[in-house]
Amino acid sequence: MKTIDQIYINGQFLTPHGTQQQELINPTTGQLATRVVLGDAADVDAAVAAAKAAYVAYSRTSKQERMAILQRLHEAVAARSEELVQVMVEEYGGTLAFCRASVQRAANSFLQTKQLLETFDFVRTAGSARVVLEPLGVVGIITPWNSSYGFICSKLATALAAGSTAVIKPSELSAAQTQILAECLHAAQLPPGLFNIVNGSGEIVGNAITAHPDIAKISFTGSTAVGKHIARGAIDTLKRVTLELGGKSPNVLLDDADLDLAIPTAVAAFTFNSGQACLAGTRLIVPASRLEEIKQRIKVAVDALKVGDPANADTQIGPLVNAAQYARVQRYIALGTEEGATLLTGGAGHPAGLENGYFVKPTVFVNVRNDMAIAREEIFGPVLSIISYDSEEEAIAIANDTVYGLQAYVSSGDQARANRVAAQLVAGRVFINGLYDEPLAPFGGFKQSGIGREFGTYGLEAYLEPKAMMGYSASNEIY
Ligand code: NAD
Repeated sequence: MKTIDQIYINGQFLTPHGTQQQELINPTTGQLATRVVLGDAADVDAAVAAAKAAYVAYSRTSKQERMAILQRLHEAVAARSEELVQVMVEEYGGTLAFCRASVQRAANSFLQTKQLLETFDFVRTAGSARVVLEPLGVVGIITPWNSSYGFICSKLATALAAGSTAVIKPSELSAAQTQILAECLHAAQLPPGLFNIVNGSGEIVGNAITAHPDIAKISFTGSTAVGKHIARGAIDTLKRVTLELGGKSPNVLLDDADLDLAIPTAVAAFTFNSGQACLAGTRLIVPASRLEEIKQRIKVAVDALKVGDPANADTQIGPLVNAAQYARVQRYIALGTEEGATLLTGGAGHPAGLENGYFVKPTVFVNVRNDMAIAREEIFGPVLSIISYDSEEEAIAIANDTVYGLQAYVSSGDQARANRVAAQLVAGRVFINGLYDEPLAPFGGFKQSGIGREFGTYGLEAYLEPKAMMGYSASNEIY
């Protein structure tokens, strides 16, 4: 069993002031894996003080200096890729393929942000005014467990590119991943205090970050419920917030869709990351005229998925992260039947032979109405609701009838029609006829899926405050 009893403040690994402990279970075996000592509000104070002191010099660095730092961080994370993957598979239960992609994405986020800086203009004009985009101060970064490295690295990269320093609170369920990632980031030998990492619970460390008067902005990824709590707490000090929250994303299959393409896309969209993905396409909205054909194809594809040990290269769905997540998914599967939906495949309990870990059966419901809880609430497991429609207008109305607006998918054999429907879907991102990865595209949600955008120019601007100067002389420029 691992013990993680260090946090990272001012360039050093330290024993936290907090003494509370938490045990983490390996989701594949159900065995005790890690004991983590959690930080507390005093640790947050120390981390913020270090970040605040470092901010004085760091906020005045040039683009070239920040780019050099991002390059070093990229190299330091990339250097231990395989170990990072192994720890993530073990602790989180993500499949090997997902964890490899996730680690690569995390390392590359520093490079992508460095490239962004090359052409990013911190000085603009508005009429006769000179407008300088200034960093905000110390940024609080709070992340979930479902792709821990990626969220930490991309948020840290953006904060540092902007000239801010950071206090990071990773998910308490990702302690071993946090430890190895912290070692990587430490190896980049940045000036002390640029980033600080405090393990801890949301209630104690998360709340302390939200309330802290010396934190200027919070970048949060996690559930909508916690996002609302943070937004409320941030009001007292008028912190800026970027909130990346939940989703219940529609996948609209138009009646001319090529099912050879659309069905594998639909299955990947709801089972990706073992269904623990904010952008999962969990509502499959299909033409009533093709329902039988679609049901049959979905069942064949889902039944062929390999659920099992995430360390095996051919596993497509691993266990869920912990017992609470397993219980949550079981509750929704039971609720689907109680609400009158029909089980097409999957269902309650563990898949045969996988009784020890937090494995669930990939599950598909048909005869789902969009007002059922399984169609409205984020389940965060591999559970799909199939909802049928009679007209294109009805399909769009069902797709948009949700409190969320993070992601949407549309499939059609007619590109112009797909474009037309995509334009009417209320979501931060729309994927047309496939799955895509564009790290420079803005990411974030409409409605209760969040506030603000991450990545690329939009993401960086969310970490900057415009200062308009009039009567300014162009000598002594900082940027
Ligand atoms: P969560 O909201 O429970 O926790 C996220 C983080 O917030 C954790 O670090 C947690 O400790 C912290 N936290 C909890 N209570 C807090 C509080 N009172 N104050 C401050 N921080 C607090 O989410 P989770 O279970 O870790 O992750 C799953 C959720 O994240 C899902 O709802 C999913 O949709 C969402 N998510 C969204 C995105 C996105 O980009 N939109 C990406 C991934 C996950």
